[in-house]
Amino acid sequence: MNKILIVEDEEAISSLIEMSLVRAGYRCETADDGLVAADKIEQNVYDLVLLDVMLPGLDGYELMDYLRPTGTPVIFITAKGSLGDRVKGLRLGADDYIVKPFEVPELIARVESVLRRTGRGGQTLHAWDVELDTVARTVTKNGVPVALTPREFDLLELLIRNRGMALYRETLFERVWGGEPENDTRTLDLHINRLRKKLGWQTRITTVYKIGYKLEREDAP
Ligand code: CA
Repeated sequence: MNKILIVEDEEAISSLIEMSLVRAGYRCETADDGLVAADKIEQNVYDLVLLDVMLPGLDGYELMDYLRPTGTPVIFITAKGSLGDRVKGLRLGADDYIVKPFEVPELIARVESVLRRTGRGGQTLHAWDVELDTVARTVTKNGVPVALTPREFDLLELLIRNRGMALYRETLFERVWGGEPENDTRTLDLHINRLRKKLGWQTRITTVYKIGYKLEREDAP
């Protein structure tokens, strides 16, 4: 599982990022101060650092001096309209930037893309006793391989990455089958039912009335 350090002094933004990334299957640590971040960078190995520019202690640019020698990929979190920050961040060796305020799906997409580009995309997602390897595209339950069709696999990955969120039938259909949903989305129901059966997740993949489906959170009763 990829480990990500979030360096951001605005509590609300930091926890939004942490929550979203944890839900997407990443392990996270946070630092709200540049000096704390520098210590963490020296003492730990991260797969990615999300770096705010304006920070107490050391700023994001100064932290690049600590990060560059480690080769850790960096995404700068920049304020709206500050083109200078973005350019400077990229010049200092950042891999990408994201502009505040951002939408969660954009954040996740950028994180995934940087991890993939830097060869760190190998990722295992966990939900209860099920483990999904997004690179080998294999699934195990209690360590025992579960045979899934490619569509079932995509559907499961989507559900796990968005755990606890009700997903619209149309969204699921579009993302897994591509293109416009047909009038009859019965095929989606069939796939969901097969997934439930194969994983023993009859109560974990729930039907959300008038919306679609949801994978329950692990901490759900
Ligand atoms: Ca800041």
